[in-house]
Amino acid sequence: MHNELKEIYNKVVARDPDQPEFHQAVEEVLDSLGPAIESHPRYIPIVEAICEPERVIQFRVPWYDDSGNLNVNRGFRIQFNGAIGPYKGGLRFHPSVNLSILKFLAFEQIFKNSLTGLPMGGGKGGSDFNPKGRSDAEVMRFCQSFMMELWRHIGHDVDVPAGDIGVGGREIGYMFGMYKKLRNEFTAGVLTGKGRSYGGSLIRPEATGYGLVYFAREMLATKDKSFEGATVSISGSGNVAQFACEKVLDLGGIPVTMSDSSGWIHDPAGIDRDKLDWIMNLKNNRRGRLQEYADNFDGVTYTKAEPEPAISGLWSVPVDVALPCATQNELNGREAKSLVEGGCIAVAEGANMPCTPEAVEVFLENGLLFAPGKASNAGGVATSGLEMAQNSARLNWGRSKVDKKLYEIMVGIHKNAYETAKKYGQPGNYVFGANIAGFLKVAEAMLAQGVI
Ligand code: NAP
Repeated sequence: MHNELKEIYNKVVARDPDQPEFHQAVEEVLDSLGPAIESHPRYIPIVEAICEPERVIQFRVPWYDDSGNLNVNRGFRIQFNGAIGPYKGGLRFHPSVNLSILKFLAFEQIFKNSLTGLPMGGGKGGSDFNPKGRSDAEVMRFCQSFMMELWRHIGHDVDVPAGDIGVGGREIGYMFGMYKKLRNEFTAGVLTGKGRSYGGSLIRPEATGYGLVYFAREMLATKDKSFEGATVSISGSGNVAQFACEKVLDLGGIPVTMSDSSGWIHDPAGIDRDKLDWIMNLKNNRRGRLQEYADNFDGVTYTKAEPEPAISGLWSVPVDVALPCATQNELNGREAKSLVEGGCIAVAEGANMPCTPEAVEVFLENGLLFAPGKASNAGGVATSGLEMAQNSARLNWGRSKVDKKLYEIMVGIHKNAYETAKKYGQPGNYVFGANIAGFLKVAEAMLAQGVI
């Protein structure tokens, strides 16, 4: 790492020594910025400023469960950087949520949102609430209590949250309802990922997974490869994984794995459309465990997830393309090596930071195509931006119009990352290209707006 950037990184670590995920995300970005600050030394102080959130909000979320017991969770919103637009980023409900994880996600979001070309700053939020096993009524009471504090910090020109792990259409609906009641105003653009009947956009549910595969397709095309006939391992079975699987099928690929936090399935015959429909029903309606898939379809193996440190044998399945779509640090250096040994040629991150730094190093050293999440999973937030545009105009666009715009945005992000990597001397290194391209736009805006 460039000396001056190393000093900034050391300060970040010293200031919050107990935030390892945040350090990891900062280190990955600062590692790439050397050539950018050599060409533009005036950006050095900006690097220090960009690592400090503009605002961190933490609050109590009390709610009663169905047995009448009081539960107290912790809510957060990180408004990290508003230089190029209102703060924008998802809400995560998962027991692991803490400041370190949300700061890493909000930090990543700054550069991701910048890459989309849309006017959105970086933010993220959530709670250590675990929706798993909770009734609809409990989830509703929790969401309402969460919004009873969050509403005073957000707004369509201030901060626009969306979904993430544990927050899908159901949760966004409950939170939107409470926001509307508290404000006594129908402000559709305050949350994205809404249902179609109250301001949601077509293709928003599909957008992250579809966008990921659009990006991976562009990346494969640089080596004259495609998804046609390619075997693909996917991790996760939530929003991103489901629609990544659907788009892989559209392009003629063969998805062979999926997972949840309890374990993973390997279906050598391929997860076809009917089987994917079955998974969508299991996960989105019945809210069941993936193990049932192996009981329901022939020739499938199910392997339980191993206890911490998480070892997902899923990555030992030989495939052409890997799409990690579950959570951060789910693919380590050893697992990266087994992907390489199995003949994998491309890895594109659907989740945020699913590959550890050691894994990324293995991919780059072995000449694999590797897409970092801030570029390859930006389709979700980009389509949230399109939802905001429709809300402002009080219009609903058709499915093909939104999909076309999503596709164009992903092709644009790929081109930007590819060309920036080449321009700054690291051709083919999308980590480098995405970090520099995302940073330059925000840095320019911060410089122009003065010390604030
Ligand atoms: P989701 O619908 O809640 O699905 C998450 C999936 O990952 C589930 O299958 C879940 O299994 C699994 N998972 C979660 N935590 C895990 C853990 N600690 N170990 C193993 N598996 C785990 O969430 P999502 O929206 O698909 O998000 C997945 C990833 O994509 C996250 O990194 C998120 O930040 C990123 N992302 C999402 C969007 C979006 O638009 N939704 C956009 C950009 C990036 P269980 O069901 O067992 O929990």
